[in-house]
Amino acid sequence: MKAFDYVAAQSIDEVTTLLAQDGPQVRLLAGGTDLLVQMRENRRSADVVVDIKHIPELSELSYDPGTGLTIGAAVSCLRICDDPAVAAHYPGLVDAVRLIGGTQIQGRATLGGNLANASPAADSIPALIVHEAVCVIMGPNGLRSVPVESFCRAPGQTVLQKGELLVQLRLKPPVKGFGAHYLRFIPRNEMDIAVVGAGAAVVLSEDGTHFRSARVAVAAVAPIPLFVREAGERLAGQAVSDQAIEEAAQIAGRAATPISDIRGTAEQRKHLTVVLTRRALHAACERARRSL
Ligand SMILES: Cc1cc2nc3c(=O)[nH]c(=O)nc-3n(C[C@H](O)[C@H](O)[C@H](O)COP(=O)(O)OP(=O)(O)OC[C@H]3O[C@@H](n4cnc5c(N)ncnc54)[C@H](O)[C@@H]3O)c2cc1C
Repeated sequence: MKAFDYVAAQSIDEVTTLLAQDGPQVRLLAGGTDLLVQMRENRRSADVVVDIKHIPELSELSYDPGTGLTIGAAVSCLRICDDPAVAAHYPGLVDAVRLIGGTQIQGRATLGGNLANASPAADSIPALIVHEAVCVIMGPNGLRSVPVESFCRAPGQTVLQKGELLVQLRLKPPVKGFGAHYLRFIPRNEMDIAVVGAGAAVVLSEDGTHFRSARVAVAAVAPIPLFVREAGERLAGQAVSDQAIEEAAQIAGRAATPISDIRGTAEQRKHLTVVLTRRALHAACERARRSL
């Protein structure tokens, strides 16, 4: 690995100033579980690595029943899994975060890093999409917000402009009748990258018989984690039934444009997209019924 300077930043201003300068290649380090691996393999290089784990706004993890959940971009996955409010109100997110690596990786890895790395197979991103997370971004021109489904542009590329960093993720408080679930297919039970991942969230009517709304997102089947808006729109207003869920799952399968690689063929991935979306929707409905 090429030598680099290390800065432990103490404030957002310090980071935006460092990122905005012309000249040295500046890279942010949250948990380092992607960045350091990529630098060791010479897939990325940096003149300056800026550690963002000590910045207060990026370390915030708080839940307010009125405004919802705030997750600082540098909060570890382990802290998120262990948080009782996250477990109670954002079950699909916990499903996803628990799958990221093993306990040691989760102790370092962050949601912010999982998102900013913009892998098509990132587990947290479909879960964040179905939970309607919003990215709070700070840069030279101040704060801006971006819905998480618009954050990734291409593999490894995001909407972040020069000088900008992801500060927090904000999730609305869940409404009555809400349920969500995330699951993935991997070729073996040990830590691995998703061959396909699927997240679903639903809001059911008071009597649990109808979909008020639904959201579906899938991973590893397109250049970026994919929000399948049409699948949720198909379910809204429908009676909860195997047939309605199957139609939504088929829409997700048609939206998938996977590649074949060593983990699976495009054909297998399309098939799995349907299967996992169906299962994610059923499990989300089950959780939603329990919340009524
Ligand atoms: C053994 C192992 C197993 C893994 N298993 C999984 C898995 O099962 N599922 C999965 O999805 N991932 C997995 N990963 C990938 C990795 O752990 C995640 O992507 C992790 O969440 C990244 O977070 P981080 O804090 O370590 O990011 P870092 O490595 O610190 O950063 C990742 C990228 O994002 C940028 N960045 C970080 N924070 C910000 C910010 N606030 N604003 C702007 N840019 C930022 C960095 O500059 C870098 O380019 C695994 C990795 C390893 C090593």
